[in-house]
Amino acid sequence: MREEMRPDRFDSWLTVDAKGLYCRPGRFHIDPNGGAERAIVTHGHSDHARPGHQHVLATRETLAIMEQRLGQAARHGTQALAYGETIAIGDVAVRLVPAGHVLGSAQVVIEWKGARAVISGDYKRSADPTCAPYELVPCDLFITEATFALPVFQHGDAGQEVAKLLTSVRQFPERAHVVGVYGLGKCQRLIALIRQAGYERPIYLHGALAACCALYETFGVPLGPLKSATEAERGEMRGEIVLAPPSALADRWSRRLPDPLTAFASGWMRVRARARQQGIELPLVISDHADWNELTRTIAETGAGEVWVTHGREDALLHHIETTGRRGRALALIGREDEDQ
Ligand SMILES: [Zn+2]
Ligand SMILES: [Zn+2]
Repeated sequence: MREEMRPDRFDSWLTVDAKGLYCRPGRFHIDPNGGAERAIVTHGHSDHARPGHQHVLATRETLAIMEQRLGQAARHGTQALAYGETIAIGDVAVRLVPAGHVLGSAQVVIEWKGARAVISGDYKRSADPTCAPYELVPCDLFITEATFALPVFQHGDAGQEVAKLLTSVRQFPERAHVVGVYGLGKCQRLIALIRQAGYERPIYLHGALAACCALYETFGVPLGPLKSATEAERGEMRGEIVLAPPSALADRWSRRLPDPLTAFASGWMRVRARARQQGIELPLVISDHADWNELTRTIAETGAGEVWVTHGREDALLHHIETTGRRGRALALIGREDEDQ
């Protein structure tokens, strides 16, 4: 027989099964593996937004991203929930609030019998002109990601990294600057940051990045002039910025660019050895995940007495959680990746 549910015992009503995190009184999963009956999806990255659910609840933006990437967001039905709006699922109150990670990304706030849990999904606290800023929600249980949960990860100011890129473009006007970016989020944030720095020239895109940029623009995120790198003449891209998925940096695709200078925008670029290994000449430390300081500050600010860690480098963070007098738990959910594709 299953354990009786008690609001003050979170592990009695928020459980982990083969599909992932499950809310028993509401009968829904959050960011489950494929094929759940009812899923609440925090954001559109492929390790959170899986295909094959019967019903999906998410922000309007996340549903649009899922449709673009998966063909359909759910088999039977979708429901869009705006940030801040509360709905009842059984006797559970559910609300989505901005996570500051990518367009449409949400934290899921659930309340049952006076106990409040916040499932952060992926999040960051630093500014991002392409999505709503992270909103802090005080809670009893905070469920956090831990992608960059080591003190060595300090992301710093993304604007300074963009300045480095633009300096290099001025310094090497005969070279194409090809920057590896993840297609959802990083690509559009980097473009918006480049525009904020006053750069108005066309930015060239690998074909795999175009659709998501167009989707951001339909949601009111201006990206300025964009051009197809595939259709461009080779010589035309001399001295220009070209964005491509990380996988394209090392393959044939980039060989058609004029004297390419390879950059990569990622939180992992803090690790110099990793940049060298991948042959990155210009590492740009720009991350859409919270760094160590953001993670620990956020945990403290939520006031949560209990903190669960979904995925990433949980050991150091769990140690931190316990030394600050909170109850910690590693969920070790399967199928989550280091960085989103
Ligand atoms: Zn993500
Ligand atoms: Zn993730």
